[in-house]
Amino acid sequence: MRIAILGGGQLARMMALAGLPLGFRFDIADPAADACAATLGRFHQAAYDDQVMLDELADNADLATFDFENVPQAAARYLADKIPFYPTPAALEFAQDRLLEKQLFNSLDIPTAEFYPVSSRTDLLAAIEKTGYPAVLKTRRLGYDGKGQFVLEQAEDLERAWQQLGDFELILEQFIRFDGECSVIGVRGRDGETRFWPLSRNHHRQGVLSLSIAPFSDVDLQAAAQPLCSRLMDHFDYTGVLALELFFKDGHLLANELAPRVHNSGHWTIEGAACCQFENHLRAIAGLPLGDTGVLGHSLMVNWIGALPDRQQALSIPGVHWHDYGKTARPGRKMGHATVHTETQQQRLASARRLAALADDDLERAVDQLLG
Ligand code: AMP
Repeated sequence: MRIAILGGGQLARMMALAGLPLGFRFDIADPAADACAATLGRFHQAAYDDQVMLDELADNADLATFDFENVPQAAARYLADKIPFYPTPAALEFAQDRLLEKQLFNSLDIPTAEFYPVSSRTDLLAAIEKTGYPAVLKTRRLGYDGKGQFVLEQAEDLERAWQQLGDFELILEQFIRFDGECSVIGVRGRDGETRFWPLSRNHHRQGVLSLSIAPFSDVDLQAAAQPLCSRLMDHFDYTGVLALELFFKDGHLLANELAPRVHNSGHWTIEGAACCQFENHLRAIAGLPLGDTGVLGHSLMVNWIGALPDRQQALSIPGVHWHDYGKTARPGRKMGHATVHTETQQQRLASARRLAALADDDLERAVDQLLG
């Protein structure tokens, strides 16, 4: 079976690495000549809306998926008219627009921070009256990893925020002083069977995920998070993996963002779960039985942003697994990740400290805070 993937980044790469042993072969499309999944299948370098490329994918592949939620909806729908396309392009519409996304959450009884659409300076002034300070001004579209965001601490910040973001359609959100962040990742088969991995607890720096820890054994939060993810998947009659990022505060969850795809906070499942998110996404979309999402041992993932540390040093730490995405280094770019996977929590803490220290002291402190 050949699977077409729109987007050739590290998520496509890890999907292909999980799918090759199952007998799948891949057609991978990406506008960048050096897309890091390019070598793992037949590569199509083209803009996502290039009709010739989309026709080629439809001719070559049995079904299609994506690794990037900003694939133009028209391109996804065009391909979905020709071959089975999972998850449904309808999910892209909501993942691409923070306002629609939060409205959808609320319509499904999924709680969020208070939010208001902002299209003018007057809207912004009215919205900030309601949220108070601090608040977060975000672009509705094309924002990810903290891009297109401005935290308003006080009235003096309004002008600068407006100058920076005023040309876009925006959303103002109440700033949540959360106890922590976590994500629930689920997989739904074509027949509607749904499974969940244990929650991961996540730590972000400058809006970018830096650490994920799993299992995050908060039984109450796990029980509260799964139905939220289920409601989204049922709403879309979803097939594949879906991630929901959440804040938790005083034992309550608030949804921040959905990702209709495999997710960075689930990379630990490669070593830390019986069946990882990449394999289960492929099993789901191919109509195969879903794999066991049960957890093995204790995991912690570190993202390498901008540069990879020394591999020799990292691999000398017990329980460390190395994932180099094969990208050219650039500031802010996700270059790879490493997962500590151990039998006991004590072993995880010892190895995670050493691993995080290879990035910087601040990350080592974050590990201590989360695990210590
Ligand atoms: P996002 O791009 O919406 O995923 O945001 C990236 C990160 O910014 C989140 O994971 C949080 O750490 C932080 N963040 C976003 N929105 C809020 C908010 N309303 N309150 C507090 N922190 C936020």
